[in-house]
Amino acid sequence: MSTALQSAGYRLIETRLQERLDDGTTRCHLCLWRCRLKHGQRGFCQAHVNRHGTLYNLSYGILSAIDVGPIEDKPVRHFRPGTRVMSIGSYGCNFRCGGCHNLEISWGVTALDELARGESTAAWVTPREIVAAALRHGVEGIAFTYSEPAVWLEYVLDVSHLAREAGLYTVYVTNSFVTDEALEAMAPVMDVLCSDIKSLDDAFYRDICPTASVQPVLDAIARAHALGIHVETRTNVIPGRNDDPAMLRGIAEWIRDHLGADSPWHITRFFPAYKLAHLPATEPTALWRAHDLAREAGLDNVYVYDDKGCDCAGENTPVNVWLDADPEALHQVKKCSASCCGESGVVLKKYEDAGEP
Ligand code: SF4
Ligand code: SF4
Repeated sequence: MSTALQSAGYRLIETRLQERLDDGTTRCHLCLWRCRLKHGQRGFCQAHVNRHGTLYNLSYGILSAIDVGPIEDKPVRHFRPGTRVMSIGSYGCNFRCGGCHNLEISWGVTALDELARGESTAAWVTPREIVAAALRHGVEGIAFTYSEPAVWLEYVLDVSHLAREAGLYTVYVTNSFVTDEALEAMAPVMDVLCSDIKSLDDAFYRDICPTASVQPVLDAIARAHALGIHVETRTNVIPGRNDDPAMLRGIAEWIRDHLGADSPWHITRFFPAYKLAHLPATEPTALWRAHDLAREAGLDNVYVYDDKGCDCAGENTPVNVWLDADPEALHQVKKCSASCCGESGVVLKKYEDAGEP
């Protein structure tokens, strides 16, 4: 467990999976970007920064949203049905989907930039406090969602260890553009992985992430399954983008062959947003066509949602309400302690010298 658990306030926490390379850069191994960063640079997700050769996570303990609801809303249907889960998220994603909702949270560029400048007033919550809040609200699990949890893995792991000790289950809602090393680190404390399979078309993935393609995503999902994590998959069907019947049938066949005929597949509805605001919402008939194709392919548990898209943060209750916290204390300006970032006590990231250490 991280020493960050002992931390008394906001500070940078060392990136969990990193490697110093001979060329002076340091590589992050949390997600399949495997960013190689020089001093002063941040990764694609904006949540990790290289300071003098060591990578740090800016967003440890930083919460963008909290909500409580049925586990079926994640969507997860074959693990502890009927129970309630506390969903939490931070800021940052390793993809840039054209139809992403709630960019302020999912990509969180502004929020992460404010953290990097030492100007953020985002909520900072210790792992113990979040687990205590979950117990206080009578939920049976904690879900990491809203943004991509891989870019926040340090906190995800610390919370998950404590959640398990407290008898809570854990759920990881992801795009699965994640490394084997990250999956192996989380497997001992993660009960459920709910993953997108967005398409079987490499061009679709390249469009939302220049370094992504289909096979590494499928490999990660299969790896999570092999590691003993309960896996459920979800495809958000977008008109004209990933609604080709042969491809949807192909997704169902892949699930059948790699996760099992009884593995749940969730088919959700696209709602126009951002760069795809000009597209119509998916016709429910298209969702049911995908359902029928999957059933014909031999998948036993296919669920259609005509009222649900991605697991985005909606109009959430303010974070402090769930935490019974003093809003003023929770939202104090987040400046890294002087012992961590130097005498200025402020995280400077790209505003600092970008030269060699
Ligand atoms: S989490 Fe992914 S995108 Fe972020 S720095 Fe690490 S490898 Fe890069
Ligand atoms: S839809 Fe999900 S994976 Fe895509 S950019 Fe938004 S948060 Fe990231």
